[in-house]
Parts: sequence; structure tokens; C-alpha cells
Amino acid sequence: MKRIVVVGAGAIGLACAYSLARRGRQVVVIDRGTPGDACTKGNAGWVTPSISAPIPAPGLTWTSLKWMMSSDSPLYIAPTAAPGLARWLWRFWRHCNHQDFIKGLHAVASLNRGTLAGFDALVRDGVSFELHRDGLLFAFLDRKYMEGVRSEFEHYREHGYGVPAPLSGPELRKLEPGLTDEVAHGFLVPEEYHVRPESLAAGYAAKLASMGIEVRTGVTVTGGRIAGAKVTALETTAGPIEADGVLVAAGAWSGQVVEKFGVTLPVQAGKGYSLTVAGIGPRLTRPVYLGEARIGSSPFEGGVRFAGTMELSGVNERFDQRRMVGIRKGVARYLREPVPAGVGTEWVGMRPLTPDGLPMMGRVPRFDNLLIATGHAMLGITMAPVTGEAMADLITGATPPPSLPAFDPGRFRW
Ligand SMILES: Cc1cc2nc3c(=O)[nH]c(=O)nc-3n(C[C@H](O)[C@H](O)[C@H](O)COP(=O)(O)OP(=O)(O)OC[C@H]3O[C@@H](n4cnc5c(N)ncnc54)[C@H](O)[C@@H]3O)c2cc1C
Repeated sequence: MKRIVVVGAGAIGLACAYSLARRGRQVVVIDRGTPGDACTKGNAGWVTPSISAPIPAPGLTWTSLKWMMSSDSPLYIAPTAAPGLARWLWRFWRHCNHQDFIKGLHAVASLNRGTLAGFDALVRDGVSFELHRDGLLFAFLDRKYMEGVRSEFEHYREHGYGVPAPLSGPELRKLEPGLTDEVAHGFLVPEEYHVRPESLAAGYAAKLASMGIEVRTGVTVTGGRIAGAKVTALETTAGPIEADGVLVAAGAWSGQVVEKFGVTLPVQAGKGYSLTVAGIGPRLTRPVYLGEARIGSSPFEGGVRFAGTMELSGVNERFDQRRMVGIRKGVARYLREPVPAGVGTEWVGMRPLTPDGLPMMGRVPRFDNLLIATGHAMLGITMAPVTGEAMADLITGATPPPSLPAFDPGRFRW
């Protein structure tokens, strides 16, 4: 494939374009908006290979049924909110078992072995973005809950992580004085990084521009020209665009894009919300997971971001204020300094989700030159560099990482 058109300029599409361009491929990126402006924008920016577990997990079925009743809970599911969602959820719940969970965790963790080195390489190559190497602190109110999460680290031993030592409340407050006295248990994972995701997208876009790669904004894919098993051109709002290969990295909209080629792939949106506060309110020195509330917090240059909730209500960017109330309430239990009412930038984004919780990376069934890279769920920032490299391996005929077959889009008979 000589000329590859990447559809979507989020973290995943930009990373794929960058890896392809570095290998000398002719690349054009198109996006219906501007680079990094969708789910890549307001997320927590954690780069955390030690959180490689798929979302469908044993026990989630009952927890989620309980949480479904509460509109400000960390998980909210509205099965009737969108056509096809109930069927997708049925598939998702069938993956909430131990065997699929462990298999998926190791496949993702194996690919993520290259993640931290991948970010280091971006810095070396002159991609400019806000990167911190301060680790990730887990903070809990309840010891049993903390032990449950800590024990999951047993699975990561073979991927280079130890089981972190538990920390008491005073030890946690020594690290993060802003934590309340209610926070009594936790642990630190010192290896992890975090980035300001907006800066990562901007850094990739700037680097691509310096390499002569065109990123066309405000261009929406509306269809495609097909000859046998090949896509020959994309139909777009800016007219047809010739292509030797097409890589769809359109996040939660990826299912809608491949549908234009007559293929159905099960991509749903796992909506999350964030609140970014600048210059006022809580202060942190490193990212902290506010355990029971399931809120990720990240300090950036000049601000702190709180991100959380998982809402399954279809592929749309409707903002539900009740989720934000849940985040504000959750933060208040863990951090001394409150977020003043009415303060902060509120945001909603759609995590691209598949029913087994694993990314979809590879050739689209029935096509030779139509590829897809999506479904990274809570790990799209973490996995951007390794995804870019893996997709570039596949496209250029290099040997891809051994876990790539686990992410084959063909696993879905939909
Ligand atoms: C609250 C929250 C917190 C998160 N925290 C983290 C975290 O700490 N660490 C982490 O690793 N991940 C995190 N994530 C997940 C991460 O944000 C996503 O996995 C990631 O942003 C997905 O990137 P993407 O490039 O696949 O999709 P997107 O960023 O959504 O990009 C898709 C692009 O495709 C374009 N597009 C769509 N349709 C078309 C079309 N028809 N034609 C042309 N262009 C099109 C869109 O305009 C968009 O720019 C979080 C997500 C949320 C919601």
C-alpha cells in the first residue's frame, strides 16, 4: 500500500499516521473535526500498562445491575437508549467471565510492554508534549476494596511489575498532603507516566506537519468506492480521496464508518466525563486513583483534571449533568480542598468499546486494504504508540507483536 488514508485524527489515528510516516509511507489523515478534539481531548492522560484489564470482568454483571439504578454512579447503563445497544450489551455480559478476562488482560499487557518505551521514543524523536513520570497512586477508604485491586497486580508479574506494598493513611498523606483523613489505604505504582492528552495530539499533529504529512480537517467520510476486496477511494464531504489503503481510527464512530463499506463491527461508546480546574481548588503532585469513586485525577501544568464514569447510552455526545454531580461528590470525599461549585471545565467524551473490551486492530473482514484500529476503551492514550507501531508493522509487512492476533477484527461474527 503506497498511499494510506487514515480516517480520524485522535490519539490512535495520529499515532498510526506517525508510525507509518516514519517508515516512509505516504499518508494523508482526514478528520471531520480538528486533531485530538474528540475523546482524546479531556481524558485523564494516564499511561498505565499496569491497568491492562478489559472492562468486562467477572462479577461486573451484578455490580452493574446495582449501579444501573443510580444516575450518579460510576457506571450507568441505559439498554434502551440506542438501537442495537441491548444486543451489544448481551455480548458484553457474556465476556464477564474469568477466562476471557485473564486472556484479554495478558494480550493487552503483552502489547503494553512497549508502551513506556514508546513514549520515551516519541520524546527522543522530537514529538513535543507534556509528559510526567511520577507514577500512579491508588487511594482507598476501605482496606478490603484496596486489597482486591492490589491483588490484581499478581497478573502483571510476568509483564515486569511487582505487587505494590500497601500504604497507610499517614504514608499516603506524606506523598499527597491533599488527601482527606478518610483515605486510609493505598499503594504506589512508581513506573507509570501521564501526559496532557491535548498536548499529545497537538505534538503528533505538529510532528506530522514537519514531516510533510497532510492532516485535513473538517473532512467527513461519507462512503467509499470498492473494487472486489479493495477500497479504491473514500467519498468525503471534500470530494473523493484516492487511496491504496484505508485505516479507520474514528474512535467510537468507527462502526459507523465501516458500515459505509457494508461491514458491521460492534463498536459502542463508553461515555466518560471530566472536570478540569485551573489555579484553584485541589492540588496534587502525581495522578491519584480515587478508588471506590472510580475517579482518575491528574495534575497538569497549571491545573488538575478529574475523570470518570462509564455511561453506555449509545454513540452520541449528549452531556448528562448528573454524571458531573457524581464526580464532584466523589472528589470531595478524597481531597481536602474542594472544587468550588460552578468552577472548572466540564467535558464528555466517548471511549470506543468492543463487547470483549479488547481493541480491534487489523484488517476489516472481506477487505485486503481496509484496516481498523479502535476499541481501546480506557487505554487509548496509553496504547497509542504501540498501536501505531503494530498497525505500521501490519501495513508494511514487518513482523507484528505476538499478541496482535488477539485483536483481529474478524473475531466478531456480528
Ligand atoms: C473520562 C475519560 C478518561 C480517560 N482516561 C484515559 C486515560 O487516563 N488513559 C488512557 O489511556 N485513556 C483514557 N481514556 C480513553 C481515551 O480517551 C480513548 O481511548 C482515546 O481517546 C480514543 O482515541 P481514538 O483516537 O480512538 O478516538 P477519538 O479521540 O475519539 O478520535 C476519533 C476521531 O475520528 C474522527 N471521526 C469520526 N468519524 C469520522 C468520519 N466519518 N470522518 C472523518 N473523521 C471522523 C473524530 O472527529 C475524531 O477526531 C479516557 C476516556 C474518557 C472518556
